[in-house]
Amino acid sequence: MVDILVIGAGLAGLSAGKKLADKGYQVLVVDKGKSVGGRLASRSLESASFDYGAQFMTAKDPRFLDQVNIWVSNGTAELWFRGYPGRSENYKRWRGVPNMKELARSLAGALNINTARHVLRITLQQGLWRVDFKDGSVICANNILLTPPVPQSLEIIDRGNTKLSQDQRFRLQQLTYDPCIAMLALLEGPSKIISPGILIPNSDDIDWISDNMKKGVSQIPSVTIHASSDFSKTHFNEDSDEVGRKIIKLSKSMLGVAVKHFAIHRWRYSKPKYVDAERFMLIQNNPTLIIAGDAFAGPRVEGAFLSGCSAAEALIAHFEQY
Ligand SMILES: Cc1cc2nc3c(=O)[nH]c(=O)nc-3n(C[C@H](O)[C@H](O)[C@H](O)COP(=O)(O)OP(=O)(O)OC[C@H]3O[C@@H](n4cnc5c(N)ncnc54)[C@H](O)[C@@H]3O)c2cc1C
Repeated sequence: MVDILVIGAGLAGLSAGKKLADKGYQVLVVDKGKSVGGRLASRSLESASFDYGAQFMTAKDPRFLDQVNIWVSNGTAELWFRGYPGRSENYKRWRGVPNMKELARSLAGALNINTARHVLRITLQQGLWRVDFKDGSVICANNILLTPPVPQSLEIIDRGNTKLSQDQRFRLQQLTYDPCIAMLALLEGPSKIISPGILIPNSDDIDWISDNMKKGVSQIPSVTIHASSDFSKTHFNEDSDEVGRKIIKLSKSMLGVAVKHFAIHRWRYSKPKYVDAERFMLIQNNPTLIIAGDAFAGPRVEGAFLSGCSAAEALIAHFEQY
């Protein structure tokens, strides 16, 4: 029996979990992935390292800026660049050190987290939440905070026949996401992308290229290429070799060097196309069910953090009232 179950160990789930645990509540965080971070994703391929989800964070809200300052002061984040050449805005962009996933790891700290635990459904049963996992295991929880991308949260809710009001269902169904095909490419030598290692090409097919070596993530030349949402929609289910060959052809002149080896990652839910007007959605109280994540407070790392924190504060306020 768990008092508060947080489903999803991305930034929304971890920031909520940490806030609740710091207040002394009993929290369990579960995630279907092998490690924490969700879309704050980093990995190695041969001896190169890659950030292949979020590339940087911005901080416009003072609460998130406070968190960024904590990360900077303990060496978990550093300023990567500000503004883009040719654009008038001048926002600071921070990166995780050594990579973006480290931001999630630092919040995970001493939290009670179970990874490789895929939630299938949540069902209201005798005043509690029954949680069924894909591996056949079951746990019960008094309160649940759901933080997967909204379409996945809806599936979990619907499989357990949990009732939503018409308004809740309508709002949740609006929160659709763009896909993104990410290529992790190991290069034959340094790319021609200049420091600080970003390229926003004038292309309908490629949105973004990060040079992981110039960024400071990789010891050897490697780039992360994010295809545009149109390209990703068209080629989402294509064979990896085939889609990889197309992306290499499209980015060849931008890299100025040959690709030695690559891997493809498909983000079905990359960034929300729409953002709800509230920072989280309270589905019901006693037992409580809340949905949070970047679709509620902005399609960014910052939004995920703010949504998680706001959901945790709402739960704490509710507990303190009873
Ligand atoms: C390619 C890409 C580039 C991006 N670039 C940027 C950027 O440069 N700057 C920026 O600010 N933002 C960027 N973003 C967006 C940013 O990554 C997200 O807004 C943020 O990380 C979302 O955090 P979250 O906690 O809401 O969701 P997630 O990180 O998606 O966390 C949800 C978690 O729920 C888990 N989960 C899902 N279903 C289940 C289940 N059934 N059972 C158990 N666990 C489950 C998932 O495994 C995941 O770990 C980018 C995203 C992508 C994909």
